Amino acid sequence: MLIGAPKEIKNHEYRVGLTPESVGELIANGHDVIVEKDAGRGIGAFDDSYIAAGAKIVATAEEIFATAEMVVKVKEPQPAERAQLREGQILYTYLHLAPDPEQTKDLMASGAVCIAYETVTDNQGGLPLLKPMSQVAGRMSVQAGATALEKAHGGRGVLLGGVPGVAPGKVVIIGGGVVGFNAAQMAVGMHADVTILDRNPTTLESLENHFESSAKVIYSTAAALEKLVAEADLVVGAVLIPGAAAPKLVTREMLSTMQEGAVIVDVAIDQGGCFETSKATTHADPTYVVDGVVHYCVANMPGGVARTSTYALNNVTLPHAIKIANKGWKGALAADPHLANGLNVWNGQITCEPVARDLNLDY
Ligand code: NAD
Repeated sequence: MLIGAPKEIKNHEYRVGLTPESVGELIANGHDVIVEKDAGRGIGAFDDSYIAAGAKIVATAEEIFATAEMVVKVKEPQPAERAQLREGQILYTYLHLAPDPEQTKDLMASGAVCIAYETVTDNQGGLPLLKPMSQVAGRMSVQAGATALEKAHGGRGVLLGGVPGVAPGKVVIIGGGVVGFNAAQMAVGMHADVTILDRNPTTLESLENHFESSAKVIYSTAAALEKLVAEADLVVGAVLIPGAAAPKLVTREMLSTMQEGAVIVDVAIDQGGCFETSKATTHADPTYVVDGVVHYCVANMPGGVARTSTYALNNVTLPHAIKIANKGWKGALAADPHLANGLNVWNGQITCEPVARDLNLDY
């Protein structure tokens, strides 16, 4: 199969669909790969490393869309890219169609076979192609929070780990799923005083078993939150209610009880955020202050560490890409029902039930 990786064109997107190492694996499986010039430059993967892996570099994305049987990307195709998709061409990328009727319409009109990373499932009922981005965001949240706590960044001047003779900073993590667990790992590693809140009994148990005495694990109630938030140096928002907007667990009133210069990192901002005062920010201008509390609400945190994120993403997307290339998309999806759940659009039809339901389209 001829597989192509264009350079991402969404604003400030530096990730790339295929690393040189992934290209090498596809070529070892007998396939041909074309990569747009400078597609990996943003993550320090230069054209010569793609050539060394066996890829052919092409000057424009047009050459990829015109010839590749499968296009591997990161972000949803932008209008200029959608216009170039061809009937029967495989598009393998994040799509997030449910809130995006315009894109959905264009993909249906293209006749392309659109496989979305975010709806591929696994045996544990999880979303394995989304998980690495939550791992990245969780780990990054504590790093971002620690920086924001420095005086020069508006914070209260607290070092999360403290030093011998001075107490560590207090970190409160709301939601102990993938983001929360990874945030806790970093905060515990920094020797902070860590408390994690969740509501799921199984999650509470596994967090307790994992962290033992290095973190406190508390059932999430409004009363518990009220007390913990008022004393915290850093609060990380990491809740998710699947298919719904994030609940506003920290109200404006609770925020007013926080210490001046305390920091919140609302990772759940991509679902609306779990603080009443959250609004999405960007890497270029990540923080703002409400009631003396520094808010960090970057909606695409993994983009800030594009190199790590690209490699983390390729680790989970490549095995499926190889299956699709080896067996053809029909064969690969027939052999793997979890990969089949990734098929969102085919032959002008929506093939993913939740997307069809949200957009009120036939399924
Ligand atoms: P997850 O499903 O693994 O974890 C969410 C956790 O929230 C679950 O353990 C759940 O029990 C818990 N929860 C639900 N209601 C709660 C409540 N009232 N109090 C406490 N806990 C509660 O989800 P995840 O992968 O960790 O993602 C968390 C959020 O981070 C999502 O909104 C996701 O979209 C977002 N995210 C954002 C970025 C970013 O760049 N900003 C990146 C990745 C993920």
